[in-house]
Amino acid sequence: SPSIRPLVAGNWKMNGLSADLEELKAMATGFEEACGGAVDGLICTPATLIERAARTVEGQGLSVGGEDCHAKESGAHTGDVSAEMIADCGASHIIVGHSERRTDHGESSQTVAEKAKAVWRGGLVAIICVGETEAQRKAGETLEVLDEQIAGSVPGNATADNMVVAYEPVWAIGTGLTPTVDDVAEAHAHIRARLVERLGEHGEAVRILYGGSVKPSNAAELMAVDNVNGALIGGASLKAQDFLGIAATY
Ligand code: PEP
Repeated sequence: SPSIRPLVAGNWKMNGLSADLEELKAMATGFEEACGGAVDGLICTPATLIERAARTVEGQGLSVGGEDCHAKESGAHTGDVSAEMIADCGASHIIVGHSERRTDHGESSQTVAEKAKAVWRGGLVAIICVGETEAQRKAGETLEVLDEQIAGSVPGNATADNMVVAYEPVWAIGTGLTPTVDDVAEAHAHIRARLVERLGEHGEAVRILYGGSVKPSNAAELMAVDNVNGALIGGASLKAQDFLGIAATY
């Protein structure tokens, strides 16, 4: 929808040391010029970098986010980090339910919903990820899987201001493979319809990002699809040239 301001978001995953803040600095200083000020920009970093990343981008057209959080505010959870802690570092968003979390850490949709509520408790925006595996797509189950994940992962009090949904086909993440524009259009229209059912007018206005092997060479085509309101970018968010190349397609 043209009335929704797009979001171009990076996910650094388990990549990034202090030296990489130079790359982040180049992204921050170049972002507004690259996209003509028409797009919101975000880079989600490992927890270890968030505070310095937030300082690095301060006053520029880019925000910083986390990649996951625990559902609780504090307590006996060794090694975990809460949404409040991530907020305290200067973040604006937290990704929850990324397929790598669902797979590597066995996170259920119910866990993802609890984490989304934690993000809101911390005053931040939740980026909730959904998407089918290759086996599910081959079995023709894509839309059913999206229904289950949306029903389970999106809390009923989500709004267009506190939530972004990212459609990330698992088989397209980090593989160089992307769905056809028709498949992207079908999945995004389906997600939009479900969000409108659940959230009414907020569902109309929620941003739905596409993620999975987005790069400068395919971004224009993918970002032009109906109901695609931006991108969630893994590999191509690590280098300023790639990230700004994607932003520049707007
Ligand atoms: C991601 O991990 O969210 C992602 C989309 O990765 P990539 O862009 O590398 O496929």
